Amino acid sequence: MTAKLIKGTEIREEILEEIEKEVKQIKEKHGVVPGLVTILVGENPASISYVTLKIKTATRLGFKEIQDNQPEDVSEEALLALIDKYNNDDSINGILVQLPLPKQIDEKKILNAIDPDKDVDGFHPVNVGRLMIGGAEVKFPPCTPAGIQEMIIRAGVETSGAETVVVGRSNIVGKPIANMMLQKAEGANSTVTVVHTRTKDMESHCKRADILIVAAGVPGLVKPEWIKPGACVIDVGVNRVGEKISEKTGKKIAILRGDVDFDAAKEIAGWITPVPGGVGPMTITMLMKNTLKSLKFKLGIA
Ligand code: NAP
Repeated sequence: MTAKLIKGTEIREEILEEIEKEVKQIKEKHGVVPGLVTILVGENPASISYVTLKIKTATRLGFKEIQDNQPEDVSEEALLALIDKYNNDDSINGILVQLPLPKQIDEKKILNAIDPDKDVDGFHPVNVGRLMIGGAEVKFPPCTPAGIQEMIIRAGVETSGAETVVVGRSNIVGKPIANMMLQKAEGANSTVTVVHTRTKDMESHCKRADILIVAAGVPGLVKPEWIKPGACVIDVGVNRVGEKISEKTGKKIAILRGDVDFDAAKEIAGWITPVPGGVGPMTITMLMKNTLKSLKFKLGIA
């Protein structure tokens, strides 16, 4: 293997330790801790496991953590009233509504009702706009793109002047990470190209990339021969391609693959993220960082 492995599991630990330290300092000096409320509607198993992990991480960091779970048939009106309650709760710095929401609820309406200063997921149009403007305007970069950028920075990859190619243009990964990488800022200053299903000759764009960020959700989409030797390859894709029995628990677990053919790509790239254990662990970590930031903004110490 020639590529250096960028392990999200290790970077997560580094960042969580930094957050934990800061939480203790703020508690000592200001007598407050970050407050996060998680709102889970219904009993979708994947959502339950995401929320459980978020709660566990927040608790480990010493945050105030409220779980406000709602039944599957909750009305939109009741959910909006709940958001309003937490918008006005001084002890809460971050409001997280776990997606997807049931059919009777307009997801956009719910996300837009969250106070932009407590929108730690960074999905509110005000925060999308702040991200676009860049610099000091940015409050809460969305968690997965923020995690990607943090991994690139901590791996020591040169981004300034680099050709960065993003595969995918979704609102939660592709568009925001493309925007972040082109900002006049540390860990950015790249020349950015975004490719998608209508792109002609995707291969030629990928081949130019010093930094290749792939978020398509198609296993093995990026072929090894599309990778420039020495490039930094960030594989965001998480695709279930089968099931196996876990050696640890003896239970059935999903076999996950990324959007890049890892085994072949690691012989060509300079850096690469594995799946699982790459970008995945970074998302919740950055959610915690945003919640801490929200408290720091409030205290005027950000
Ligand atoms: P999405 O909303 O489905 O968007 C996928 C994007 O990829 C679209 O812009 C689509 O293009 C493009 N695309 C799909 N197939 C393509 C192809 N054959 N050639 C070129 N472009 C193609 O997905 P997403 O939410 O961004 O997620 C992408 C992947 O990242 C998924 O596997 C998801 O599970 C994973 N993910 C991981 C994390 C994490 O690890 N924490 C977080 C979020 C997402 P069009 O716009 O033209 O349709």
